[in-house]
Amino acid sequence: MDSIKKTEIRKKNDKKELFLDQTLRPNTWNEYIGQENIKNNVFVLLEAAKERGHQPEHILFYGSPGLGKTTLAYLISKETGHQIKITSGPAIEKVGDLASILTNLSPGDILFIDEIHRLNKNIEEILYPAMESGTLDIIIGKGPSARTIQLELPPFTLIAATTRISMLSAPLRSRFSGGVFRLEFYSNEEIKDIIKRSASILDIEIKDEVALEIAKRSRFTPRTANFLLRRCRDFAQVSKKNLNENTVNKTLTMLGIDDIGLSQLDRQILENIIEKFKGGPVGLGTIAMALSEEAPTLEEVNEPYLIQLGLIERTPRGRVVTEKGYQHLKINYNKLL
Ligand code: ADP
Repeated sequence: MDSIKKTEIRKKNDKKELFLDQTLRPNTWNEYIGQENIKNNVFVLLEAAKERGHQPEHILFYGSPGLGKTTLAYLISKETGHQIKITSGPAIEKVGDLASILTNLSPGDILFIDEIHRLNKNIEEILYPAMESGTLDIIIGKGPSARTIQLELPPFTLIAATTRISMLSAPLRSRFSGGVFRLEFYSNEEIKDIIKRSASILDIEIKDEVALEIAKRSRFTPRTANFLLRRCRDFAQVSKKNLNENTVNKTLTMLGIDDIGLSQLDRQILENIIEKFKGGPVGLGTIAMALSEEAPTLEEVNEPYLIQLGLIERTPRGRVVTEKGYQHLKINYNKLL
């Protein structure tokens, strides 16, 4: 094969890889595995709005990264038959940015704001009347001659997502009249099904037990599962082997992921609390400083999984490593007490 052709294929594959998250995104409610409680609530909300001929009310989804919040917003837009406009808290820098987004909506549109906890407070206040009464208050001019004009907005549904619900102000939270829903971690069986679906889209042959092996190390999170599936496939391809338990183990060892899905950083967090802080309690900021990491990353990405596995506990005085956490690292629990 000539080199131009090869480069073209590589470019195509790179592009495919880049958009893989979108390729693997479920297109129907049936393909969206798990989160049954949220799906049922959203169905009722959408059906009731349809029957009354109203716009569905505003919804907030929260939970760890990669659990499927954005995907839900896409599915809702599909169900309503209206377009989805996507933005995020940090992308809306000025009041004018939000005003322009809102005034450019078409009737029935879904506006998705990701990472809404990072929305500036003065911008947040513009959102209140927009969400409540569909109006936009704009102040024209400065000082004594300033005046407010009110613009009527087209009916729209705001769907917001956050990984840090505690950072959302109570007034903003209360305006999600359609509901505030927490996405749960997935079971290993659900993750296994997600992996099997992704594998069939990507033309990868995978046995049930191999999919389950990847699932067990996927942090109960679909995005991680898809990422690990792709890395295992790469390893199998490059080493000219089949995708089996052996290649999965080798790939995950290479990635520094252990048999229960802990990354190197997860293990460092545990080790640090045990060795430097006698197992805790210790504040997250202190752990972050000791590891030269950012506290929000530890709180959003690492801590929820460690808590879910019962390896650390959150107490009012800080984080504490549990007996199970010591056992996982093979450190004697009593020795350090
Ligand atoms: P979030 O917005 O919570 O960070 P996403 O909605 O972007 O997460 O989901 C990340 C990826 O994980 C999606 O592209 C999709 O491939 C997969 N995914 C998420 N939830 C599910 C689910 N319930 N069923 C199947 N795949 C899912």
